[in-house]
Amino acid sequence: MNGKKIFNSIKSVENSINKHKDEIEKLDQEIGDGDHIFNILRGLKELLNLEEELISKPPDQIFKQLGMKIMTTVGGSSGALFATLLIGMSKKYNSEINDLDNLSQMFFEGVQSMKKRGKADIGEKTMLDVLIPTSKTLSELKNEKDISKVAEQISLVAKDGMISTKDIIATKGRASFLGERAKGHIDPGARSSQLAIEAICNQFINN
Ligand code: ADP
Ligand code: MG
Repeated sequence: MNGKKIFNSIKSVENSINKHKDEIEKLDQEIGDGDHIFNILRGLKELLNLEEELISKPPDQIFKQLGMKIMTTVGGSSGALFATLLIGMSKKYNSEINDLDNLSQMFFEGVQSMKKRGKADIGEKTMLDVLIPTSKTLSELKNEKDISKVAEQISLVAKDGMISTKDIIATKGRASFLGERAKGHIDPGARSSQLAIEAICNQFINN
């Protein structure tokens, strides 16, 4: 794990989110207030602006600074929640262990922090329906040597999590105001998180 890899991942995320921006905008118009795509693209742009300043720093410092930047510049629930995820991840970085084990511990901590911050858990029609299963699978596979295989599995788990948000009601966030009417719509945060995870995984599949 190093600055170059971290920023390459952010670039691949931005690329995928950009390709799906109309779809994400529509999802948040259907069950939210429509600003999710704006918040996400704003955040990604702010992160990429820090590349030159942070690329040579140790990963824990990079994650922390990225999180703080999101916290102070991005609005909406997703701004505060993604900032919390990144800052949580920074706390568990350990240069002594292998990258996959390290990432799994960092991501677990980040997701735990996000759950606490948003007082939410799995099954509430939020991005946690993608992030929690992803974190669980990462922990289960942390000693796997075939990284391409891990990436393929994580990508599938994230996709299943995203799809699982479609037919449930929301008990957190704006979509919770809609009650039953939220059924039949995929959660925008779940879709953007899944696309981000898929973009990162694709960098490791057959590489
Ligand atoms: P806002 O809802 O403030 O307009 P965004 O549109 O940027 O913010 O983000 C909406 C997304 O945030 C939702 O689709 C959902 O995935 C996520 N979300 C909302 N509340 C929570 C929460 N308490 N915990 C986890 N994720 C949440
Ligand atoms: Mg919104």
